[in-house]
Order: sequence, then structure tokens, then C-alpha cells
Amino acid sequence: MPVLVMKFGGTSVATLDRIRRAAKRVGVEVAKGYDVIVIVSAMSGETNKLVGYVNETSPLFDAREYDAVVSSGENVTAGLMALTLQEMDIPARSWQGWQVPVKTTSAHSSARIEDIPTDNINRKFGEGMKVAVVAGFQGVSPEGRITTLGRGGSDTTAVAFAAAFAAERCDIYTDVDGVYTTDPRICDKARKLDRIAFEEMLELASLGAKVLQTRSVELAMRYKVKLRVLSSFEEQSDDAGTLVCAEEDIMESNVVAGVAYSRDEAKMTLVSVADRPGIAAAIFTPLSEVGVNVDMIVQNISDEGRTDMTFSCPTDQVRRAEKAMVDAKARGDINFHDIVADTDVAKVSVVGIGMRSHTGVAAKMFRVLAKEGINIRVITTSEIKISVLIDRKYMELAVQALHDAFELEKAS
Ligand code: ADP
Ligand code: ASP
Ligand code: MG
Repeated sequence: MPVLVMKFGGTSVATLDRIRRAAKRVGVEVAKGYDVIVIVSAMSGETNKLVGYVNETSPLFDAREYDAVVSSGENVTAGLMALTLQEMDIPARSWQGWQVPVKTTSAHSSARIEDIPTDNINRKFGEGMKVAVVAGFQGVSPEGRITTLGRGGSDTTAVAFAAAFAAERCDIYTDVDGVYTTDPRICDKARKLDRIAFEEMLELASLGAKVLQTRSVELAMRYKVKLRVLSSFEEQSDDAGTLVCAEEDIMESNVVAGVAYSRDEAKMTLVSVADRPGIAAAIFTPLSEVGVNVDMIVQNISDEGRTDMTFSCPTDQVRRAEKAMVDAKARGDINFHDIVADTDVAKVSVVGIGMRSHTGVAAKMFRVLAKEGINIRVITTSEIKISVLIDRKYMELAVQALHDAFELEKAS
């Protein structure tokens, strides 16, 4: 039997009624002759609640216990989905990650999937089971401890299963009907894309578009998984939603494919650092050693042998970064006058593979922001994206102005 993977996100399993609606969608695919692997998220809001419990109990928590707690939301929806399918006379059973087992690294709270043995589930399919319901987001480490794959990780579970079982397609059911040119919740002119290239989706996801977890796009690209994003709230035709596919499979596209944003950014500045060879290494080595993910970096022109060094990192890593810098100063490895953290910033990015061959996108982006009176604090670019750090209060304005200026509401 051909295998289909169907993933339902938090809002799609938020109530028993929605689980029933999702199960009906699964029934439609079973009736077409597929063996279906359903990946479920926790009910919406559940994982946040569990993360809150952990933080309240233990601010510097043991990551292994964090995973034990936050993975549990998916156990509930997996069992309920299997029961709902059984009530519809569809042979189904649930699996938690460790039962499959979804083998991961030991990097608790952001583990990577290393292997998914298929024999267990395939044997059940052979015995007449039609649907394997698997709890997303979770796995098991070589030490036998429960792991999780990072927020939004059920997308990655789904794509990894699609690759392991050579599924015909991996359908990601969510609360919007596809991938848009930007988040439709903050820009009402956002346009749904019929197709988007892996590279563009990868950039959009890593720059903050949470519709797919970055790692899931990486896996789909590597294993050539046919990946589709669609709504669980509407009746769906076979070509509904957005297909994430190879660049060659897209006939025409705009120079800029989309605009992404991330609220979760902080800017830190080391004021008046001695400018000498090795200073960047002396700053960024201790930051990486304590696990701070530095994103953008700017070093000012030096004045009388001293300079300011600015970098950005996720908001929840600011305290760790500060401590690493103060410790490095105490050891005499670096010396600075002050360290200033600004958590009221956001990152806005434009993405498009067309930028490889078109010049002037950056200049246009800067003109648009200037016209709105938005000051750019830090800039980074790569071959297919330009990102700027701006004051958070201008984030939505910036996204909308860029969406308008690049005419993303129109197809090319
Ligand atoms: P799920 O719970 O189904 O995994 P998520 O909340 O993780 O859903 O992702 C879906 C959300 O992603 C949408 O509700 C939307 O607000 C947001 N989003 C951000 N950028 C985009 C985009 N470019 N296209 C579609 N959705 C986007
Ligand atoms: N429930 C997890 C989260 O909220 C995983 C997911 O939904 O993809 O991050
Ligand atoms: Mg998600």
C-alpha cells in the first residue's frame, strides 16, 4: 500500500471536535487506499503551559526533565486521535516517540532525529492496521531518555517519517491554507503561494515564519519529500495548499518571494572594546561555548584603538550572553567599558532566489524603511535574503510596507 503522512498542528487538534474533523480527513485518505501515518501536535496552548510549569518550578532546569514534561502534550492527542479513528471503525493505534522508536541525539530540547526504524509500524500495517498515530515532537536518546525536537518540532517528525517510509507525500495540516508571502495574521494583503522553493522556505522558516520548522524543510530538501502545507479547516482538493518543491519545478516567481519577521531578537553592544587582532574570537568563542546563538554582528570603525561591537541573539539568551562577557572580562580575555542589551528590537527579512540575479533589492528595502521613518540598527545579507534589525514597535509597519513595495500581493 502507498503510505501517506498527515500532520495535524496544535489548533487542528485543539478540541475533541477538531480531532474528529481531522480524523474524518484521515478517513478520506484511508478510503483512497493509503496506509496513513498521522503525526499529531499537542492541543494548542498545551506546550506553552507545560514550558511555563517547568520555568516556574526550576528556572535553571535539567533539560532531561524539561523534555519529560513538555513532550507529554503530544501523548494525549495521539491517544485521543487513535480512539477517534477506532470509533469510526478505522483500525488505528498510537505510538509515543520511544515506542517506534524515534532515535535522536541527546541534545535535550533541540534533539535531532538520527533514525526511525520502520519494521514495528510496517508489521502492524501488514496485519491490517490502517492508521499509525505517532506523537510528534518527541524521541528517545541513546541513553534511553525522552527528548524533544525544539518548538514546532512535530513538522520535523512528519517529514522524517515521510522520508523513512518513502511516503507518497507529507501533508502538513495547519490553521492557514498554505504558505503565504508573509504572515497573513499581520498583513492582510498576504497572498497564498501555490508553490515555494525549498531554499526560500528554508530561509523564511529560519528567519521566523513559523508555519514550518526549519529543520523539517532541511529534511524534506535532503530526502526529496513531497511536502505540502494546507488547512485542516476547509474541504481540500488534491492540489490545495502550498507545495514546497525544488526550484526547477517552479516556472515563474517574483524576485522577492516573501517577507519574514522575528520578534524574538535582542541586540547587545559591548561599548569601547580594545580593537586588536583576535578581539572577535575573544568575544564570540565564550559566547558559543555557553550556547548563545549569535546571528548578526557589526563592528564599528575604531577610534583611537577602541571600538563598539554589536551582535544579536535570541531574547532568552541575553542573560547567558551577559554573564559570558562579564566572566571573559574578569579573566582578562576582553575589556570593555559597558555592556548594553536592547530587547525591544525585531528582525525583518526579505527572501527570494531571484536576488541571485537581480540587483537593487537591498537598496529598495532601505529606501522603503527610510520613507516610513524606520531606523535600521543592524543589517545582514546572504545570497537570497536581506535582514534588518529595527525597533520592535515598527515591525508590522515594516512588513506591510515591504510587502507593498515589492508588490507581493501580485503573482509574477
Ligand atoms: P501549527 O500549530 O499547525 O503547527 P503554527 O502556529 O506552528 O501552526 O504555524 C502556523 C502559523 O504560522 C500561522 O497561523 C501563521 O500565523 C504563521 N505564519 C508565519 N509566517 C507565515 C507565512 N509566510 N505563511 C503562512 N503562515 C505563516
Ligand atoms: N507542541 C510542540 C510545540 O508547540 C511541537 C509542535 O506543535 O510542533 O512546539
Ligand atoms: Mg507549528
